[in-house]
Amino acid sequence: MNIVLFGPPAAGKGTQAKRLVAERRMVQLSTGDMLRAARSSGSELGNRVAAIMDRGELVSDEIVIALIEETLPQAEHAGGAIFDGFPRTVAQAEALDALLAGRGSQIDVVIRLVVDDAALKRRIAKRFEEEGRSDDNPEAFAVRLDAYNRQTAPLLPFYRAQGKLVEIDGMAGIEQVAGEIDRVLGAGVATAAAR
Ligand code: AMP
Repeated sequence: MNIVLFGPPAAGKGTQAKRLVAERRMVQLSTGDMLRAARSSGSELGNRVAAIMDRGELVSDEIVIALIEETLPQAEHAGGAIFDGFPRTVAQAEALDALLAGRGSQIDVVIRLVVDDAALKRRIAKRFEEEGRSDDNPEAFAVRLDAYNRQTAPLLPFYRAQGKLVEIDGMAGIEQVAGEIDRVLGAGVATAAAR
């Protein structure tokens, strides 16, 4: 089963993805984590994307699509993939559909965590204090939120039209959100397709 965890930065995608990895035999594919790893390793790719990430802008579709393509075989050996922070543009979503179709696979369900902007700002301010992630500062976060609204939100009608979009309340506590996700996954594809 392949799942997209969808939502703005700080919606809780990473937290929920890690729990699903621990509880189900699935692989978390986070392009943000992959890009941060590239930066820490000092690779040419890492150096190329560092300034873009620090500003809070999206890196190019080509870069993230290539990263995802490399990791798909690994996900197939597990129980499936949880896409976290990818796709973020319609071009990325189309590329993902084509890559999966080429491997006889598909996205089964897209779970959107709905969180309002004020709560996102509070969460990010706390995370910036606790973890000091460079793109969590208020200026970069404003750019990230803007990128989400302008470039990523158009994916909602894209996945709704495919009958794959399920929306859950991301304002609830971590355990409650986890329970809702389990309910969706337990009900399986039929539920998503019925929407
Ligand atoms: P994240 O950890 O998912 O919030 O990603 C951190 C940063 O990495 C983003 O602000 C972007 O600069 C970059 N990034 C991660 N995933 C993508 C993606 N799918 N498309 C473009 N840029 C991305």
